Amino acid sequence: MTDGEETAKHRGLLIVLSGPSGVGKGTVGKRLRARMPELVYSVSVTSRPPRAGEVEGVNYFFRTRSQFEEMIRQDAFLEWAEYVSNYYGTPKAFVFEQLEQGRDVLLEIDVQGARQVRERYPGGVFIFLAPPTWEALAERISARGTEDAIVIRRRLAQAAREVEEIGLYDYIVVNDDIDAAVERIRCIIAAEHLRTTRIVEDFVRRLKREEVRDEVSTDRRS
Ligand code: 5GP
Repeated sequence: MTDGEETAKHRGLLIVLSGPSGVGKGTVGKRLRARMPELVYSVSVTSRPPRAGEVEGVNYFFRTRSQFEEMIRQDAFLEWAEYVSNYYGTPKAFVFEQLEQGRDVLLEIDVQGARQVRERYPGGVFIFLAPPTWEALAERISARGTEDAIVIRRRLAQAAREVEEIGLYDYIVVNDDIDAAVERIRCIIAAEHLRTTRIVEDFVRRLKREEVRDEVSTDRRS
């Protein structure tokens, strides 16, 4: 058996961390990844220009609008959305490769994107990161200081629409304290690995693979 076959016994979990802009997805996601280094982070593609300190291939893959549109035509995205006049999307091939190799993959994406992933990959784990209060979210968006007043207003309006979609999610985690939020997400991931349906699915996948292997070796012998 090759290493690839060994690791492919269990498909990884697709964990979708979503919620309004400014709720702290980035901060919580970063600390979660530090706590769970085995989690694979899916780096998104965006047409937004880099902010100070952002690094190509680490924070995002930065592309022009026309490059992004070409990727849409090539069906390169698991999901994509236009958010406050910029495109954001999740590269599909990378995510599926990692899941097939048995690795858990983390997406930090907006609510429109989470909705698309839910349609295309319902086996994902959908977590809504919620602000402790609306005022806290408004404060965080304004305090970021990287955007002008119009963009801030648009991000707030978008956030108000996004909170209405909370029912799409499997879990709600309130980001009242970063470490507490990270710990709740860690527990969710641990519990999801123990779900009966996933364990049974993996078992059936394994059986099928072994059946195929048996058939091949029987064919070779005859
Ligand atoms: P920012 O411009 O602040 O980095 O991101 C703006 C919003 O886009 C955030 O809510 C962020 O989570 C979301 N986002 C980042 N990457 C993706 C992606 O690949 N797809 C979608 N749908 N949203 C994303």
